[in-house]
Amino acid sequence: MRLILLGPPGAGKGTQAKRLAERHQVPHLSTGDILRSEVKAASELGRQVDSKMRAGELVDDDTISSVVDRRLAQPDAANGFILDGYPRTIRQANALEGVLGSQSLTAVVELMIDEEELFARIEARAREAGSAGVRADDNSGTLRKRLAAFIKETQPLSAFYKHRGLLFKIDGSASVEEIATTIDDHLTDIRASQPSAARKGE
Ligand code: ADP
Repeated sequence: MRLILLGPPGAGKGTQAKRLAERHQVPHLSTGDILRSEVKAASELGRQVDSKMRAGELVDDDTISSVVDRRLAQPDAANGFILDGYPRTIRQANALEGVLGSQSLTAVVELMIDEEELFARIEARAREAGSAGVRADDNSGTLRKRLAAFIKETQPLSAFYKHRGLLFKIDGSASVEEIATTIDDHLTDIRASQPSAARKGE
């Protein structure tokens, strides 16, 4: 199971990624979580990315790609992974293809949300900002910037993966359970349509 979740901030990727990782016994690789823990640990990498993250800007492609490469090389990712937050640019997507080589992705699931709903979610998240446990980058201005970065840099990945026959689009405004069921059904369809040899190692 090698899955990518695509979608804007606030689309619910993390929730679905966690569930899928448990269900398929593969790691949930959230680049946002990885970077936040580096910032918290005040590592060299953490110090390097802190200001960009706070500003809602993307970390540079080479930095994040090498973080992901190292993570994918760990034994627990040998049977697959759920990628959440990566790739986020066409350059990152090309880098990932280079790293995976002949190992193909199972699917790319895109959670679609219309802008109005997204802004409502973003405002709701921002209103919680300031209370304990809320992310440093969850404030209205930064969220808007993250959304703008998504539209400019990440949205083009939809066409990139469609071209490769991997894209599966889902209405992200449906309930968590409905989305989960839709993804599971799609993964079942993919398995059914693949010859058993291609399923080895999943
Ligand atoms: P969001 O909730 O906006 O989807 P994430 O938790 O995935 O945010 O990521 C938080 C921040 O970490 C981003 O705004 C960006 O600064 C950085 N980041 C995470 N993944 C990437 C990536 N693939 N490329 C560049 N920057 C990234």
